[in-house]
Amino acid sequence: MPLKITILGSSSATPTAHLFPTAQWLQIGNKNFLIDCGEGTQMQIRRNKLSFSRLDAIFISHAHGDHCFGLLGLLSSLDLLKREKELFLFAPPQIVDLVEFFFYRNNENPFTYPLQRIPIKMGEKYLLHTADTSRVYTIPLSHTIQCQGFVFEEVFPLKNVNPFKINEYEIPSCDIPGIKKGKDWKTKEGLVIKNDELTLPLPKALRYAYCTDTQYIGSLKELIGTADILYHEATYSTSESAIAPLSGHSTSVEAAKSALDVDARYLLIGHLSVRYKDPSILLKEACKVFPNTYYARQNTQFMLDRKDMQLKVMDIKEKINAKS
Ligand SMILES: [Zn+2]
Ligand SMILES: [Zn+2]
Repeated sequence: MPLKITILGSSSATPTAHLFPTAQWLQIGNKNFLIDCGEGTQMQIRRNKLSFSRLDAIFISHAHGDHCFGLLGLLSSLDLLKREKELFLFAPPQIVDLVEFFFYRNNENPFTYPLQRIPIKMGEKYLLHTADTSRVYTIPLSHTIQCQGFVFEEVFPLKNVNPFKINEYEIPSCDIPGIKKGKDWKTKEGLVIKNDELTLPLPKALRYAYCTDTQYIGSLKELIGTADILYHEATYSTSESAIAPLSGHSTSVEAAKSALDVDARYLLIGHLSVRYKDPSILLKEACKVFPNTYYARQNTQFMLDRKDMQLKVMDIKEKINAKS
């Protein structure tokens, strides 16, 4: 399955008539994750034809409004839509407290669905969530308040058994599930065959790293390792490099340097200050340092398939218009 990122919003600060604040919908393995939830996110989910019922978990990076003001409305709408599937919410403690106060103060079960509310240990790097086909790590960023980044990684729970080895050793079908899970296998004569000999190598696991609202961190490689796609905020042009760190933000060139630091294949930049009417200024600056840079424009989908590792970019609005 390809990795798909749909940009629901990528503006910073206040929403405008045309620009929505930060929110992304990530499809990885068989999971659907929402990353940040700025104001208007649920309208953008509808506009981008994504399925509310498929949502598995929500991750909120920090407690600034342009990343979380859409959350209460979305949780409420999922209830009105009579959702039944469990939903995970990973958020800074004050956001979890807000949800508790608003919905759970007088009611233990305010929703039609179970909401698992998990406060993030802010400032720490750890494995946050394990789903059957993906893992999510969180890392500390450097902003004016505590802010976390996320690394999403594919997981392959089952290996593929080499059909030639099944024939060669005459492995009974009842032993196949164990081999798929990684167990060695014993012949009738008691000879142990190592699992690696019986199975095919696992495909490459795709990794997506999300780093919003942060000044440049020189140690990003130590925090996240490598990433196939890095989303990094680029609030300012490089001409504002003196003021960027004072507001806990990065420039376009710093975002590009971060992509080099983590050996990324592709960089998406967003969270541009509304002062830049034309994002191509920042895009050009970043491309000079890291040519594979794209602007994370809202209503755009980025898709990466491990078969060719080529990033495909689709304008959702054009797709919708073409169909209508
Ligand atoms: Zn922000
Ligand atoms: Zn912020």
